[in-house]
Amino acid sequence: MDKSTIVALLEAKKQKFIEASDHIWETPELRFATDKSVEQHYNVLASEGFHIEKGVANMKNAYVASYGSGKPVIGILGEYDALSNLSQVADFAEEKAVEVGGNGHACGHNLLGMGAVAGAVGVKEYLEATGQSGTIKLYGCPAEEGGCGKSYMARAGLFDDLDTALSWHPLDKTAAWGSSSLAVYHVDYQFKGTAAHAAGAPEHGRSALDAAELMNIGVQYLREHIIDEARIHYAYKDTGGGSPNVVQASSALFYYIRAPKIEQAKEIFDRVNRIAEGAALMTDTTYSIHIDSACYNYIPNKTVTTNLQENLSLLTPLSFTDEEYAYEQQYFDTVPAQVKEGLAEGLRTAFPDLDNDQIANLANEPISSPLYPLTFSGKAIGSTDVGDVSWIVPTGQVFVACEPHGTPPHSWQWVANGKSSVAHKGFMTAGKAMALSAIDLINSPELIEQAKQEHEDYLQGRSYVCAIPDDVVPEE
Ligand SMILES: [Zn+2]
Repeated sequence: MDKSTIVALLEAKKQKFIEASDHIWETPELRFATDKSVEQHYNVLASEGFHIEKGVANMKNAYVASYGSGKPVIGILGEYDALSNLSQVADFAEEKAVEVGGNGHACGHNLLGMGAVAGAVGVKEYLEATGQSGTIKLYGCPAEEGGCGKSYMARAGLFDDLDTALSWHPLDKTAAWGSSSLAVYHVDYQFKGTAAHAAGAPEHGRSALDAAELMNIGVQYLREHIIDEARIHYAYKDTGGGSPNVVQASSALFYYIRAPKIEQAKEIFDRVNRIAEGAALMTDTTYSIHIDSACYNYIPNKTVTTNLQENLSLLTPLSFTDEEYAYEQQYFDTVPAQVKEGLAEGLRTAFPDLDNDQIANLANEPISSPLYPLTFSGKAIGSTDVGDVSWIVPTGQVFVACEPHGTPPHSWQWVANGKSSVAHKGFMTAGKAMALSAIDLINSPELIEQAKQEHEDYLQGRSYVCAIPDDVVPEE
């Protein structure tokens, strides 16, 4: 069975993936509470004959769907959670909420999940037709956004029997994913003080709000003395109430502490903890620290990632109709001029052989068509719980242009574009690339061996220990 047959089989089934992706777009759900979204996955996977284990790793909406038997075992990772406060009318080129304050699929996880399903179905078709030994496991992972669902699945050992893992993410350009991501700790800090009348008896009061403010100031000074690549952000979860005439008896801060390596993030986390302790001492309050979740930095496996790039090269450049270009143009028109200049710069670096006109043409595409060259030197920017999986098993990912050129993740443009034919094409391309790579891996024990050797060489004897303590459970 050749690769074009797999691609054709997936094309023939695309309508059901598209319908499920659109349904998920229409019921955007947060973190672990993805009840309706996961049902869409179950429907498609059940219709394809997958065995589905639901509610794994103590998360009611996490699943492992498998097909086939024996070695090798290839994993594909899917997601379906949305973001809060990013509700947006579909196919509308101005910021306008369907429901003010509502959720929206601003990271394209409706597409991400169905691209993963399509990938797994492609592998299933192959295993079924050839009768070859091999198992495909699709992981339904809730709470990628801030909840680290995969880290809990990793802690439960669900990835331990895999030979390799594959995933992808929608973006505004296409390439295999060679860069790392930042390790992150998500941490709650709570302060408890004593309430008192702020004018009548301030000497009896101990302000938890003062403690939170002093902690933030302490961290502000810390920022100068940590590595450049680290990032520390915070939000107030509790400011102790809205009455200035009461000494605030409670406060709570939510911190994200990020660094390129998990050990670096841990070291900074320990320092932030001491600042919290200092703030409590200064204000005569008490404090508590609770790790909400955490994830590792991503290790792109070069062997697996290079194979993904080879398969993407069979599926690119992406082609779009005039209507699709016109549709994406309306979003591209909202991109600031400075960002557009940056697109041209990025293209010049990626494609040094192209002349200025060619670069200008590509930079002005409202949806990006070319396959960018694979590089392993890109800067780590965000964080992903795929990081944890990549410490356990050789992992490769791709990103595929589903979104208007020059628009960032977590933007209203991504939500508006989330049910477009361009977005659908993008997730199908990702699904095909992952299916083809999984099939290459199934057919090539040497490739898997090489990927594992590289993984071992990178780890140098280190092994994965989940950064989320055992007593922390997933919280909606
Ligand atoms: Zn995302």
